[in-house]
Amino acid sequence: MKIEELLRENIRNLTPYASARDEYSVSGQIQLDANENPFENGLNRYPDPYQTEAKEVIAAIKGQSSQNLVLGNGSDELIDLVLRAFCRPGLDNAVGLKPSYGMYRVSCEVNDVAYKEVALNEDFSLNVNAVLQACDTNTKVMFICSPNNPTGNVFDKASLEVLIKNFNGIIVLDEAYIDFSTSKTLINDLDKIPQLIVIQTLSKAFGMASARLGMAWCSVEMVEIFNRIKPPYNVNGLTQKAILELKTTAETVRLQVERIRENRESLSTDLMKLGCVQKVYASQANFLLVKFRDADRIYRALAERGVVVRNRSNEYGCKDCLRISIGTEEENQSLMDVLKILEDEKSIVYR
Ligand SMILES: *Cc1c(COP(=O)(O)O)cnc(C)c1O
Repeated sequence: MKIEELLRENIRNLTPYASARDEYSVSGQIQLDANENPFENGLNRYPDPYQTEAKEVIAAIKGQSSQNLVLGNGSDELIDLVLRAFCRPGLDNAVGLKPSYGMYRVSCEVNDVAYKEVALNEDFSLNVNAVLQACDTNTKVMFICSPNNPTGNVFDKASLEVLIKNFNGIIVLDEAYIDFSTSKTLINDLDKIPQLIVIQTLSKAFGMASARLGMAWCSVEMVEIFNRIKPPYNVNGLTQKAILELKTTAETVRLQVERIRENRESLSTDLMKLGCVQKVYASQANFLLVKFRDADRIYRALAERGVVVRNRSNEYGCKDCLRISIGTEEENQSLMDVLKILEDEKSIVYR
C-alpha cells in the first residue's frame, strides 16, 4: 500500500508554509525576519517548529528514533491532522469502535468525515470481522484505542495483526494509557507497518496534561506529511522547555506509575466488596470502569459530596457504569468513605 496514494490530492500538492528560518540556520544571526519584539525575556522568539531538542529527549526516553516522531498540541491535534491528511470531507469515512474515546467522533464531525462505530464484543474484545466488514473503499482511517478508554482493556495482538493485514488505509493506534499496561507498545513494529500511526501523550502517565503534548510515532514518510500540514508553531516554547526537564523526572514518573497501578488493584478489591457495586472491569489503564446498581444516582450523590467521576452509563455496553480515575491513596480512600456512607443510608437497600 502506498501512503502517497491514500493522501488527499490537495495535501499531496501542498506547498507548505516556510519561514526564513527554514532556509537559514538561526544560531549567531541577527534575527530581523519574524517581526518579533527584539528585547530578550525568554519568550520573545518563535519556538522551533520541528521541536528538535524536545524530540531528542522524548525519543531517548522511549528508546526510539526522533526521526519517527511528530509532536502535537495534545494528541487531539494529531487525530485532527490525520483526518485532514487522508479524508476528503463529505466523501471519505473513518471506522472506530464503541465504546471508545469520544474525540474520534468529534474530530470526524468537525472535518465532515463520516464516522462508523463498530461494537466491541460483550467482554469488550475486538470483533475483527465486524470491523473489517464496516470498511469500504472510502474508509481511509481506522481508530483503535488500546488500552481502550473507557473500558480499560487491551486488545490482543493477534486481532490487531489481522486488522493491520486486511485494512487498506491508515491505522491510528491510540496508546494514551500504554504506560499503565503490561502489554507492549507497537512503536517497535513501525518498520514493518508503514500505514501505522501510534499515538501517545504526556497527559496521563507523564503528569503533563496542562502542557498539551501529544506524540505520533510513524514512518519517516508520514512524519514528512505531518510536518507539511501542521501549524508551524503548534508546540509552544514553554512546553518545549518543560520537555527538556523530562529526563530528570523520568524515574519519578516510573515510580508514580507503579504506585498508580498498585492503587488501581487495591481500589478494585475494595470496590468489589461494596453492595452497590455489580462489577469492576479489569483495567490496564489508570482508571476503573465500575458497574453500579444505580450509576446515575451514585454519580450524583458522589458529586454532591465533592467526588467527581465520569458517568459513562449512556455509552454503548456501559449501562450503569462510572469511570473512576485512580487518585492518590487519600483520594481513593475518600471515594471509598463516601461510597460506604451512601450504602449505609437507609434509603438505599441493595441486599
Ligand atoms: C486522555 C486521552 C488522550 C490524550 O489526549 P491529549 O490531547 O494528548 O491530552 C488521547 N487518547 C485517549 C484515548 C485518551 O483517553
